[in-house]
Amino acid sequence: MTQPHSKPETYVLHRSSVATPPRAVRGEGIYIFDQNGKSYLDACGGAAVSCLGHSDPAVRAAMHAQIDQIAYAHSGFFSSDAMEELAEDLVTHAPEGIAKAYFVSGGSEATEAALKMARQYFLEIGQPDRKYVIARRQSYHGNTLGALSVGGNMWRRKQFEPLLITASHIAPCYQYRDQLPGESDEAYGLRVANELETAILELGADSVAAFVAEPVVGATSGAVAPVPGYFKRIREICDQYGVLLILDEVMCGMGRTGTLHAIEQEGVAGDLQTIAKGLGAGYQPIGAILVSKKIDDAIANGSGFFQHGHTYQGHATACAAALATQRTIRERDLLANVVKQGELLADGLRERFGQHPFVGDIRGRGLFRGVELVADRETKDPFDPSRKINAKIKKAAFARGLMAYPMGGTIDGVRGDHVLFAPPFIVTEDDVAKIVDLFELAINDVFAAEGL
Ligand code: PLP
Repeated sequence: MTQPHSKPETYVLHRSSVATPPRAVRGEGIYIFDQNGKSYLDACGGAAVSCLGHSDPAVRAAMHAQIDQIAYAHSGFFSSDAMEELAEDLVTHAPEGIAKAYFVSGGSEATEAALKMARQYFLEIGQPDRKYVIARRQSYHGNTLGALSVGGNMWRRKQFEPLLITASHIAPCYQYRDQLPGESDEAYGLRVANELETAILELGADSVAAFVAEPVVGATSGAVAPVPGYFKRIREICDQYGVLLILDEVMCGMGRTGTLHAIEQEGVAGDLQTIAKGLGAGYQPIGAILVSKKIDDAIANGSGFFQHGHTYQGHATACAAALATQRTIRERDLLANVVKQGELLADGLRERFGQHPFVGDIRGRGLFRGVELVADRETKDPFDPSRKINAKIKKAAFARGLMAYPMGGTIDGVRGDHVLFAPPFIVTEDDVAKIVDLFELAINDVFAAEGL
């Protein structure tokens, strides 16, 4: 007999057991409403996901139409119009050299699949010794074991270390913190990019499979863009040593930085490029790897079978949502709005916080902007992590009805407290002004409570 028990507040194992979050009951444009009718301006798209806001009619209609035909058919048996059309749409708008799209259900799955595809590529071309992956410190590529292994976010890795595969980490391109006094941008970019060559030579040039990097770093550092020339040198090194370049555009991609792909602004392309988040705008969970011709050819002309798969890959309703998302972005010329509102957001943040005693850096591209908070602007010393400044800002902003994405501080391997803004591409000038106003109120709340 089952024992009578008192009903807990929730049966959900939430990410945090400290407090049950409010329930999101409705979405309208850039706002989410909870069960008490309180509204939240989504200034971070959740985690840089909701690029069309929360009630886009075209995406909803496309999903309804797909469900009325067929919601899902296993990709081991069937393709679908939605999957084929989405792949064509992605490949025809992809960086040079991309030939195919491989679908998954999210960012971590995309990283896993990219790592395995890189490994299989080298088996197909008769280079079985290539197995090592190099990534960068202060990076995040997902939470599954392979993705966690390559990520350089030590706090997330620490307790799972015994389960992780070996990966090496070089310096990120993090100008605000690491550029030396008097060092030009070009010299700085070359210096940190050349760490890749050193790492490849240390591991053995013939044993390295891939280098993984985000073109514009999101969650771990708050919208850190590379200096000009950095990725050109990275590409050169990868080509010289036959190492694959895996670009993680899960967060910075699909229009977030003002171009469809963030890497377009660097004038190079990857061999594999992961996308997710904004791909389906949060209406459905979907990710993909954009696969270059050389890798597609090697697998097609070799074993003919990528040894990997997930039950929901190429899910028809997810593909229909993503296709409608991408078409909507083009039809409404939303990338132009990303550029315009992104500049306004950057100007607003700079005007309001440019001289703020605890704001060290304001940075980013398009509607992907970061604010780095510091205890001392001169020395750039971060706040003591025990103060949990970033978590307090998240809480204060949420209380004021603003969703912002703070990170860092409490996390070793991540330097400083950052707040990331990644609002939907549909934001207006008034929305941007409101974001800046609410953020100011939130940080004032925190600094006042901290006695600063
Ligand atoms: N890669 C990057 C750069 C990310 O920011 C994230 C998530 O934040 C991931 C991968 C993992 O994506 P997901 O959370 O969809 O598994």
